[in-house]
Amino acid sequence: MSTQPLTANELGTVLDDLGDRLGDRVVGPQDPRWDEARRAWNLAVDQRPAAVAIPESAQEVAALVEVAREHGLRVAPQGSGHSAAPRASLERSVLADMSAMNAVEVDPDRRRARLQAGAQWRHVTGPAAAHGLAGLSGSAPDVCVTGYALGGGASWMIRRYGLAANSIRSAELVTADCDLVRADADAEPELFWALRGGGGSFGVVTELELELFPVRELYAGMLFWPQERAAEVLPAWRAWTAGVPEEMTSLGRLLNVPPLEEIPEPVRGRSFVVVEAAWLGDEAGGSEQLTPLRELGPEMDTFGMIPPPGLAALHMDPPQPVPGASDGMLLGDFSEAAIDALLGATGPGTDSPLVSIEVRHFGGAAGRAAPEHGALAAIDAPYATFAVGMAATPEMQQAVVERHDDVRAALEPWYAGRLLNFTERPGQTDQMFSEETYGRLRAVKSKYDPDNIIQANQEIPPT
Ligand SMILES: Cc1cc2nc3c(=O)[nH]c(=O)nc-3n(C[C@H](O)[C@H](O)[C@H](O)COP(=O)(O)OP(=O)(O)OC[C@H]3O[C@@H](n4cnc5c(N)ncnc54)[C@H](O)[C@@H]3O)c2cc1C
Repeated sequence: MSTQPLTANELGTVLDDLGDRLGDRVVGPQDPRWDEARRAWNLAVDQRPAAVAIPESAQEVAALVEVAREHGLRVAPQGSGHSAAPRASLERSVLADMSAMNAVEVDPDRRRARLQAGAQWRHVTGPAAAHGLAGLSGSAPDVCVTGYALGGGASWMIRRYGLAANSIRSAELVTADCDLVRADADAEPELFWALRGGGGSFGVVTELELELFPVRELYAGMLFWPQERAAEVLPAWRAWTAGVPEEMTSLGRLLNVPPLEEIPEPVRGRSFVVVEAAWLGDEAGGSEQLTPLRELGPEMDTFGMIPPPGLAALHMDPPQPVPGASDGMLLGDFSEAAIDALLGATGPGTDSPLVSIEVRHFGGAAGRAAPEHGALAAIDAPYATFAVGMAATPEMQQAVVERHDDVRAALEPWYAGRLLNFTERPGQTDQMFSEETYGRLRAVKSKYDPDNIIQANQEIPPT
């Protein structure tokens, strides 16, 4: 496949051919809609594809893949662009913006949600909750279910119900050959296996069917202490995680709240150490579990009973697109020495440019592989970090990336690999899977996309 930029004539033909198939839902660089069309949720990423296509059906996805192929271009599916940062150059790619395909249907009897690939979690949680059900949603309501679930999907219920990838019951997709394919436990089982945790390398997903779980309410919230108490609070949280039931999913976090006007007064511009948790049970049971943490005297305590859609506010993720730089890693342990190392790299007094660095607690169902699971059968580590800083300018971006490197170096003794969804650096997929799983993923890629047409953010290369 050529790596040369398209000439103006070539680009004109591509846009004409795409336009013949998708009408005005094709946007090229001369179009007044261009900057909006090529924008990712992460505003720090300056995406410059050859063209943007906005399909409204699986047939239109097949058409755009066909046109891209004919012109020697790749196809880069995008849900929201939350994880646009790791994607390689899009110069010879058609960005397939899936956001117009966002219909959701809930079947309460079968406890299933059927959704188009551009649906975000906020499109699913309300309709599911109307039937006393919940999907395995993550912290941000505007993350797309498809990108999240293909990459694993760590929810507030992960210790009880496992990875969101393994709640996928079927997927419909357009392969690099422009075929419309259904993958499930019986049809195309290898492809079905690869999709569940292997990311977006295997085709353009157009629909997913997900299992929903009977959850009407949870006891969830945050405990805040001044960040100066991190050396006391984080070890206490770590010790507490060792004994909690699988119904409790939590994280410990260093939070440096930006001094922005839209942020409420009690937290604006301040630094905290925070514990966030969701308990699948009632208030009395959840409160009993939290006793050892509450004995540390948090300055603020927001716990209360909430329906599952309320989880969207728990982590205080930005409600609109922002420029950011993130990175994360799995940790084999979060021992006192690891906590000291983390605090030395980015804790109180280090003038950290990170808005947040969280350590999520896994184990429980997250750590249990089953034969029917997909490529990410389980998370083989008890903790994972995910850190983010604002990157509104190249200088801010550099400071954040350097701090990510410092954290990575400080936590090297506990480094246990990477999670696809928590990795925003390119070229790391071989660190996300065992050698055997990685080889099997590459074999699936070679079978369904030997010419490497489909361009994921985290690419599994064909053999
Ligand atoms: C604020 C924030 C909070 C987050 N919270 C969590 C969390 O709680 N738990 C968690 O596990 N992760 C979390 N993530 C990570 C998130 O799950 C990933 O960024 C995920 O990739 C986002 O999917 P997307 O489709 O919205 O983003 P995109 O950047 O659009 O997609 C990411 C990749 O997914 C693939 N993809 C998307 N749609 C398709 C499709 N239709 N067909 C084929 N491939 C496709 C592509 O390879 C694409 O490059 C968070 C990220 C952010 C920025």
